[in-house]
Amino acid sequence: MLDVKNPEINFAIQTASRAVQLVRQVQAELVTPVLTKEDRSPVTIADFACQALVAHLLEEAFPEELLVAEESSSALLKPGAERNLELVTRFVRRALGSERAEALSSQQVCAWIDRGQTNQASRFWTLDPIDGTKGFLRGDQYAVALALVQNGVVQIGVLGCPNLVNADTRDLVGTGSLVIAVRGQGTWCAALNSLVDWKQLQVSTRSNPAVARLLRSFESGHTNVDQIGLFAQKMGIQADPVLMDSQAKYAVLAAGAGDLLLRLLSAALPDYKEKIWDHAAGSLVLHEAGGRISDLDGRPLDFTAGRSLLNNRGILASNGMLHAPALIALKQIGA
Ligand code: AMP
Ligand code: MG
Repeated sequence: MLDVKNPEINFAIQTASRAVQLVRQVQAELVTPVLTKEDRSPVTIADFACQALVAHLLEEAFPEELLVAEESSSALLKPGAERNLELVTRFVRRALGSERAEALSSQQVCAWIDRGQTNQASRFWTLDPIDGTKGFLRGDQYAVALALVQNGVVQIGVLGCPNLVNADTRDLVGTGSLVIAVRGQGTWCAALNSLVDWKQLQVSTRSNPAVARLLRSFESGHTNVDQIGLFAQKMGIQADPVLMDSQAKYAVLAAGAGDLLLRLLSAALPDYKEKIWDHAAGSLVLHEAGGRISDLDGRPLDFTAGRSLLNNRGILASNGMLHAPALIALKQIGA
């Protein structure tokens, strides 16, 4: 069972939920249909505000805990970024919602953001304030991803997925899902607007590759589309891959609504090293639902090497049953 009274688990759930409320507010107010493709300011504001909020809540709940997170305040302190910093501060103030928040300075917000600059530690929390930034701008899938890692082992992983309904469909209606995994306690999902009715998630039992459902990044530059085609052919997978942004993909696999997830190395960046905040929460969500995750060579993900998965190459995630045949197919196509 999920021990929701445990302080760290409760913190993860409440924090992810408050962070999602904040980023949804930014999206509702700043992402407009007239936004040009180049204008990424809403996602910038949501990213920074979310990181500041989570860093502050962590400091308040567990002052000794360290944070490894994507953003640093330097981009907000550059000339020309004044308006962004002002908006970030305004959204954080609103998220805090107390009288004290009125007095919150931009300087304090930047200090909170920079609590995320930890490089390496034996125990830390890791945050992707908005995973799937393009999905966020498109009104598609994105996630707030938070995880607790101790001695390289992910202990808690939480994904706030505002546009994922029951973690098993891609409908863009409803209240979205909060998915939490705790080592030894399974993976659980609840509706973001009522975090009481927890349903346990379990991966699929599909072992026939012909009917397997393969997930990949929406952004073709984050993977290798041609090689994914070759892989599908080798495996005999018939359906086209499902394109989805963010770690919502892990939640879909955990819920048994997908069977394989591939992150191949793009031709443009063959030496790309995955960031730990892009996989820490999702990897436990999948593992505790009975799935398997490794790199493309079958190696376990190594979360002890700093901010990136320096000792790994790409990602293969699966329902477990399809993992061994997928590793063979990857070798055969030279991925
Ligand atoms: P996805 O939504 O699955 O495309 O994953 C989003 C994540 O991809 C972002 O959080 C980035 O950290 C990461 N990313 C950025 N560039 C690349 C790249 N060239 N290859 C793989 N991942 C990338
Ligand atoms: Mg990310």
